[in-house]
Amino acid sequence: MNPAKILQDLMLPIAIIAIAWWAVPHVGELPPTLAGIKVYGVYFVIALGALLGIAFRRGRIVFALITLALAYASYGWVARDELTGFRAHTLFAALGVLVPLNLALLCVMPERGIFNMHGLQRSGVIAVEALLTLWVIKAPLTWVTAWAISPFFDSTLFAASPVRQLGWIFIALGIGASLAVWMIRRIAIDIAFAGALCAFALAMHHVGVADAFAVYIAAAALVFTIALLQDTFRMAFRDELTGLPSRRSLNERMMGLGRQYAIAMCDVDHFKNFNDTHGHDLGDQVLKMVAAKLDAVGGGTAFRYGGEEFTILFPGKDIAHALPHLEALRSAIAEYKIAVRAPDRPAKPAPATRKQGAFRETTSVAVTISIGVVDSSAQLATTAGVIKAADAALYRAKNKGRNLVSR
Ligand code: GH3
Ligand code: MG
Ligand code: MG
Repeated sequence: MNPAKILQDLMLPIAIIAIAWWAVPHVGELPPTLAGIKVYGVYFVIALGALLGIAFRRGRIVFALITLALAYASYGWVARDELTGFRAHTLFAALGVLVPLNLALLCVMPERGIFNMHGLQRSGVIAVEALLTLWVIKAPLTWVTAWAISPFFDSTLFAASPVRQLGWIFIALGIGASLAVWMIRRIAIDIAFAGALCAFALAMHHVGVADAFAVYIAAAALVFTIALLQDTFRMAFRDELTGLPSRRSLNERMMGLGRQYAIAMCDVDHFKNFNDTHGHDLGDQVLKMVAAKLDAVGGGTAFRYGGEEFTILFPGKDIAHALPHLEALRSAIAEYKIAVRAPDRPAKPAPATRKQGAFRETTSVAVTISIGVVDSSAQLATTAGVIKAADAALYRAKNKGRNLVSR
């Protein structure tokens, strides 16, 4: 994993939680005319996120925000009871278990939209949780609450926290699950679940501090909302298959370029043949491999221009600087062997001739790319003109026999 990307993903949740931490003691300084913010500000932030979630069809975020809204509403009762008594203890213990549980489940689950059967099921689960909690309070099932707030093991860790061991266990498991999902999928929305759970843990731990619960829940909602925007941005500017920045990114980057730069157009050789022989799925694998090699090119940034065509931008460089990198790239791709199952392997070998490992028989294939490169000294006025010149250089490489860099 790329450490810069990890840091980029982690930075926003950490920044939002840090701002919340700073804001908690200052909320009390708000003039009385703005006191409404303390009560309704949280709902406002949650509603804004939920509206964006509905607009972008992000069910996981919408249901996470509904969970936060209900948690904040329940906190209202806990605060009214001044954190004492059966109702407050039951609600507080339920929050410590159900919020991490819901957020972790939503994080692990695939995105399934909102207004459909899946959305109905998820609403149903939240409603059942709320009804069960109300039942424990109304019945009253005192043994349930007594069990939930009793210590499960001997430990002085968090002994002074209003959150009991069961709550900390669920919070830790929820954060762990979200981090694991993020490590696997690496999208901003997954890390938002871990960030929101950290904010929730702070809200619970500081429940006795004035305004802390409201501020940290608002922070959790903001973490989700910003992750939603980040993910939408990523979809617009990143190519889904290869993970490289898309053509839209390239256009923007070219607008902001200085006077000196080199640009290379790369195209996979005879790729139509490759697809026809080995299938589209292996073709996709090859594009991912080619993209990974391009992404590692020295001194430049790679983009997926479209189909099997890629562009590399070398800001501040000329052809002489770019050529060695492009030559290294060309040969790295040509030398890379992709394992495929032997096409001539009999579908069902006769039992008498069948040998151990016959099914694992593989062969390898390789692809080559052609590259055309130009630089800004060619006096090309427009972005389109530069791309056109690089394309012309690419076709010279194709005509000279492919697997070549041409200028
Ligand atoms: P040349 O050496 O002249 O570039 O020949 P070529 O066959 O690569 O050229 P052409 O442009 O005719 O073919 C491009 C092929 O790339 C056609 C299409 O099937 C394939 N292709 C484009 N995008 C994708 C993709 O996302 N996945 C796969 N598997 N194939 C793709
Ligand atoms: Mg092509
Ligand atoms: Mg091609």
